Amino acid sequence: MSGNDDPRRLVPGVDRVLARPWCGQLVEAHGRPWVVARVRAVLSAMRAGVVQAPETDGALRDLVLAEAATAAEAWVRPVVNATGVILHTNLGRAPLATEARSAMAAAAGYCTVEFDLAAGERGSRYERCRRLLAEMVGAEDALVVNNGAGALALALAALAGGRGVVVSHGELVEIGGGFRVPEVVEAAGARLVPVGTTNKTRTRDYARALSGGQAGAVLKVHRSNFRLSGFTEEASVENLAALGARAGVPVIHDLGTGLLADPAALGLEGEPTPAQSVAAGAGLVVFSGDKLLGGPQAGVVAGAEELVRRAKSHPLCRALRCDKVTLAGLEATLALYRDPARALQAVPVLRMIATPAEDVRGRACAALEAMFAAGTPPGAATVVEGESVIGGGACPGVRLPSALVSLDAGDRLGAWLAGLRAHDPPVVARGRSGSLLADLRTVDPADDSLVATALASLSGGGPPAS
Ligand SMILES: *Cc1c(COP(=O)(O)O)cnc(C)c1O
Repeated sequence: MSGNDDPRRLVPGVDRVLARPWCGQLVEAHGRPWVVARVRAVLSAMRAGVVQAPETDGALRDLVLAEAATAAEAWVRPVVNATGVILHTNLGRAPLATEARSAMAAAAGYCTVEFDLAAGERGSRYERCRRLLAEMVGAEDALVVNNGAGALALALAALAGGRGVVVSHGELVEIGGGFRVPEVVEAAGARLVPVGTTNKTRTRDYARALSGGQAGAVLKVHRSNFRLSGFTEEASVENLAALGARAGVPVIHDLGTGLLADPAALGLEGEPTPAQSVAAGAGLVVFSGDKLLGGPQAGVVAGAEELVRRAKSHPLCRALRCDKVTLAGLEATLALYRDPARALQAVPVLRMIATPAEDVRGRACAALEAMFAAGTPPGAATVVEGESVIGGGACPGVRLPSALVSLDAGDRLGAWLAGLRAHDPPVVARGRSGSLLADLRTVDPADDSLVATALASLSGGGPPAS
């Protein structure tokens, strides 16, 4: 940034700008200190030559108003996800059910999060989620923390702090965002005891490590974000639980995805569920609230009463405590699972996975018709076969056949994708070799026409006929 010896004579002083009537209006709306900061930002950009000093009052006003508008805009804004990635971590992972959204809005004020209305005294923060989760997972007890990573760190610290954690070499994975199993074990104050090899780890590899008597837990990590295939072998939760029982060492199973619905109903055969894992003898299971469970960001620790009690009384539990709004949203999401058929419709993540390709195709064709009616030239857009993915580091091998609205963008692809992102509300789509692709599987059907209008406005269509 240049100093006050800058020769740009056209750059006015802050006070002169603040004295303009239009700036007075801005001060009235936002308060003086904030407006002064915006004006300073514009003026210093001029002095630095980043923007040209304007010659008219109107041009100066436009610059300041644009800066103010950008600064006042919220960072977290709703977007329409037309990428076909269901658990899009950058776009907030699971979109919540209507019931969860209302419960979260209602809990934002005073609420009963830690208050027992019947007794008129303090109650347990986790009571309702605890009961719902324990029942659904078939566990004796459960606990909710901030996220899956926190749930794993807490389980490890509580059961194996200062002791060994036996893990297969094939499960020393990175989950994403720098979250690596060996580092989490270390951060939890436990010692990593890797066993077996990358592709094959047998029960007897664990047995050998447990014979030393130094281990506090056996950890099994679900390979949720990559596939291991070919010459492979791994120990089942059943075998590890039996082995652990003889050695007096519990098994922690990090499932990551937290699928509470029937995998077969979603075409996700083979995806392990917390209930299966608890039934197979895992002492604790840990999983996320905002992956396949379809709720808000949270981490669940469920399992044997004594082990959950140890997690609950560990100091880290307080540090990972989640807030009332999250607990209300999770509780409302879990309540939708009472009726499994209803959950497949009411939990958006499950509904999106279960939507047949033919239904997505029907919606894509309707959107295409709307685009043509709005002026998109025939031949510029079509519906093509494609695939949606689950995303969020879950079910890497699963591809859901889908139908995509494809718009011929040519070398304007980047500009058109940016145009969609600048739309209100922003629409995030995909691009591939000159084609702009919109997958309506991840769009709320109520937003289909909005996507069609936004696409049409790129391709020569006029504004919406409202
Ligand atoms: C996603 C995942 C985690 C981390 O959960 P967050 O809720 O993202 O913190 C941990 N373990 C596994 C296996 C996962 O897939």
